Amino acid sequence: MSVNDNPLQLKPITELNAALHANCPKCRKGDMFQKTSMGFLSQKMYTKCPYCNFQFEIEPGYFYVAMFVSYGMVVAEMVTLAIATYLLTSSESPWLYLGVLLGVALLLSPFNYRYSRVILLFWLTPNLHYDPNKADKPFSEK
Ligand SMILES: [Zn+2]
Repeated sequence: MSVNDNPLQLKPITELNAALHANCPKCRKGDMFQKTSMGFLSQKMYTKCPYCNFQFEIEPGYFYVAMFVSYGMVVAEMVTLAIATYLLTSSESPWLYLGVLLGVALLLSPFNYRYSRVILLFWLTPNLHYDPNKADKPFSEK
């Protein structure tokens, strides 16, 4: 059950909460990514918000920019991990660092893919803000 299904939740969904759940930045209700059977870090993105019909890819190739966000995330993760590995092991073997960094980079790639797009849409896209009117009622095609 997602946060949005909770009938007891009367407060509007906060920006951080919506971003963590990869909800639409416009209405904070629809999902950006399709649910998988495993329900965990799906990589398939909707073209439009299932709730408010907001088009996620604002212009063609818009998500190429997410590559740069992802790059920044990976650099931050790798630096942190390299320092942590050094502090924990005091090792000077390059193979240890190579193994740990590449392994974790592969493990975190679904996370980075997903959240680079979330960060891009939530905080790096000018003129894209939460619209309470869009959150009031679902979009209907007429
Ligand atoms: Zn939406």
